[in-house]
Amino acid sequence: MAEKRDYYEVLGVSKSATADEIKSAYRKKAKTLHPDLNKDDPKAEEKFKEAQEAYSVLSDDNKRKMYDQFGHAGVGGAQGDSPYGYGGGYTNFDTSDFDFGDIFDSIFGGGGGFGGFSGFGGGRSRSSSPRATRGSDILMRMDLNFEEAVYGCEKKFNIDVVEDCDECHGHGGFDREECSTCHGSGTVTTQQQTILGSFMSRSTCPDCHGAGKTYKRKCTECNGKGKVKKNKKITINIPEGINTGDRQKVTGKGNPGTNGGENGDLYIEFVVGEHEYFQREGDDIYLEVPITITDSILGCKKDIPTIYGNVKINITPGTNSGDKQRIKGKGIDNKFRRHKGDMYLIFKVYTPKKLSREQKDLIDELADTNLDTDEIKSFARFTKGNE
Ligand SMILES: [Zn+2]
Ligand SMILES: [Zn+2]
Repeated sequence: MAEKRDYYEVLGVSKSATADEIKSAYRKKAKTLHPDLNKDDPKAEEKFKEAQEAYSVLSDDNKRKMYDQFGHAGVGGAQGDSPYGYGGGYTNFDTSDFDFGDIFDSIFGGGGGFGGFSGFGGGRSRSSSPRATRGSDILMRMDLNFEEAVYGCEKKFNIDVVEDCDECHGHGGFDREECSTCHGSGTVTTQQQTILGSFMSRSTCPDCHGAGKTYKRKCTECNGKGKVKKNKKITINIPEGINTGDRQKVTGKGNPGTNGGENGDLYIEFVVGEHEYFQREGDDIYLEVPITITDSILGCKKDIPTIYGNVKINITPGTNSGDKQRIKGKGIDNKFRRHKGDMYLIFKVYTPKKLSREQKDLIDELADTNLDTDEIKSFARFTKGNE
């Protein structure tokens, strides 16, 4: 293994450099050494990582002290065996308080994320308290019938939500005091003997879990956890026009966060049932309208059910099966998407299978008149030509 360079030397700062000087020195290094900007230099990535590693140690007061005292061994160095996080070197480098905007702008043309960089993991190595992590979101499915979805509705349901304990206000105990195990630092340092010598290794305090504080009296309500499961009644107002696949968010009713992190959110995804007659296509409503042969021939006025009550429409003479008629604005008034649909009538002519003698005579009489349309005449010509 090559000898590791001194971190101060890597960043080109003196041993007495201030935090700002270290930050600014690292910033300059990161800009000039970034592998994406130095594709021709095979050593660029190595140098960049070296600078990252140096900065991850020197930017952290505790780690810097350890480094000053014990050198590379004091901060895990090449061993990478510290359960604490920074032992592995640059991979756990915390970038949360550092502005990379200008560097990324030049690489990605603005708006770039951290995702593509090997060196910038999401990991974090704080020496004080452990990181507060937001809880994950929960997705729940809810069935709605056609009317509930079209007109909107209020829905109530119960769900178990983990929230701060009311008794101890989320602290888990009473009478706060400094943790006696770690003396308030949140971490414990142990000496490890290995074949390469002895090393200082640091880990999160097992008693206060990094908080640095404990409580004289544990809260019995939550058994010291600070969180309790509560069965909550949730009421949601579902707006008109919700469709299958739409989601509504209920803030803070997801899974609990850790280390003081807030709860995730609850998302409700709807599954809308079908109607016996109305057929929904987005915000439009389709309705099949059965009509008699006489109505189809002579036309008529007819009451048509819509989702807003009945309306009277004119069916024009000569309406055939499959003909479509639009009724503007009688579709779904979708408040969720701010869009109003239309209604479409699809006519279907029902020819009776049984006729009375009297009806048969009347039809026979009608058949003697010439009812042939252009389509029928054209088809007759095609049939003759095919003989
Ligand atoms: Zn409690
Ligand atoms: Zn402690």
